[in-house]
Amino acid sequence: MASAAISKVVWVNGPIVVGAGPAGLSVAACLKARGVPSVVLDRADCVASLWQRRTYDRLRLHLPRHFCELPGMPFPDDYPEYPTKRQFVDYLEAYAAQSGVEPRFNQAVTSARYDKAAGLWRVCAEDVSATSTASAGDEDVVTEYIGRWLVVATGENAERIVPDFEGMDEFAGPVSHVSEYKSGEAYRGKRVLVVGCGNSGMEVCLDLCDHNALPAMVVRDSKVHVLPREMLGVATFSVAVFLLRFLPQWLVDRILVLLARVFLGDLEKIGIRRPSRGPLELKNSRGRTPVLDIGALARIRSGDIEVVPGIKRFFRGGAELVDGRRVAADAVIMATGYHSNVPQWLKGNDFFTQEGYPRVPFPDGWKGESGLYSAGFTRRGLSGVSSDAVKVAQDIAMAWEQQTSSR
Ligand SMILES: Cc1cc2nc3c(=O)[nH]c(=O)nc-3n(C[C@H](O)[C@H](O)[C@H](O)COP(=O)(O)OP(=O)(O)OC[C@H]3O[C@@H](n4cnc5c(N)ncnc54)[C@H](O)[C@@H]3O)c2cc1C
Repeated sequence: MASAAISKVVWVNGPIVVGAGPAGLSVAACLKARGVPSVVLDRADCVASLWQRRTYDRLRLHLPRHFCELPGMPFPDDYPEYPTKRQFVDYLEAYAAQSGVEPRFNQAVTSARYDKAAGLWRVCAEDVSATSTASAGDEDVVTEYIGRWLVVATGENAERIVPDFEGMDEFAGPVSHVSEYKSGEAYRGKRVLVVGCGNSGMEVCLDLCDHNALPAMVVRDSKVHVLPREMLGVATFSVAVFLLRFLPQWLVDRILVLLARVFLGDLEKIGIRRPSRGPLELKNSRGRTPVLDIGALARIRSGDIEVVPGIKRFFRGGAELVDGRRVAADAVIMATGYHSNVPQWLKGNDFFTQEGYPRVPFPDGWKGESGLYSAGFTRRGLSGVSSDAVKVAQDIAMAWEQQTSSR
């Protein structure tokens, strides 16, 4: 059994930032621009591991590029309106290099607590690199980082959600999470049950069609908001942002639903019903992102993607649905989302809820007490990440300046 005794202690002169995704990188970059050093820790072996390791090949940014830029560095001019995953990763790597942010990789944070007596954060991280575990035998190599500030930037998508269905063990084919999916090549000619109808579920179905697989998409409760990605060449997201300047959210929601009806037609006919709460309301309160259609609806209408209701149980060759129908499947892909992992490692603190989100809602959830901060938990994608990063860095820089000038 591996032990977890602290084998090294590192004093951090500046904030400890946990997570080297867009949020952690932008906090560290904004701090650096203000002359504040930081230490960025990530359990992965690269920056933006979600994008590099856990997303499919055909992924592009869902929103127009100017909503996805990080503070202080625009996208290169030759990038398209919706950059590809590779382009976004290149951008993030260039961002880290240009800002001089060098994360410490393979550092999985297992606990963080505030030491009241010392007025300092104690953050324990296990070295999860293959070389470390091989050379250290049974002993985990644990480093304790000690510093005045802690920035939580581990993201809303830290861990996979894999629902436990009755009879799952009986199913004979492979079951995977969408974070493992790269392309439909491996599924050519196969019947694939895709569980979940968010942006990932829809896009994976589209990709499966393009690789001559036969996808059936499970739409639990048959309810999801689908909006066109663009209307007459204008991004739907831009329209929503523009309208929100003048109108309340509930009214913008109604307008969006109406426009979706005009541009996409009646989706009930193809088995997709709209939730009673509006798309922006659901996004902001529950984190349920509306689907921005990039072609899946057309494939549903043509019959290439079958829409089926929720799953009751699995059997050897497929699944029984809540309406009593049986659907045959050779493989199952769970496009069932992710959850935050903060409660697993941030101890003795009630700034975060049990679900791992700041208790105080947007726009005030970026600052806790005793030098605790969060970045990237606003349910507002990369624009939320950027706005948090700027505020967090500004606040810490002020405290840093006071501290250094009083010294
Ligand atoms: C498929 C997909 C597409 C998206 N497309 C868009 C889009 O087009 N536009 C948009 O605005 N938003 C988009 N988002 C939402 C969001 O902007 C991204 O998820 C973005 O990557 C969030 O950045 P982050 O830094 O907060 O989290 P992440 O990118 O998830 O980074 C968190 C980092 O923390 C690390 N970490 C986690 N736990 C620990 C730990 N215990 N110890 C050490 N390190 C840890 C992880 O390894 C990871 O590198 C998308 C999300 C997904 C899943």
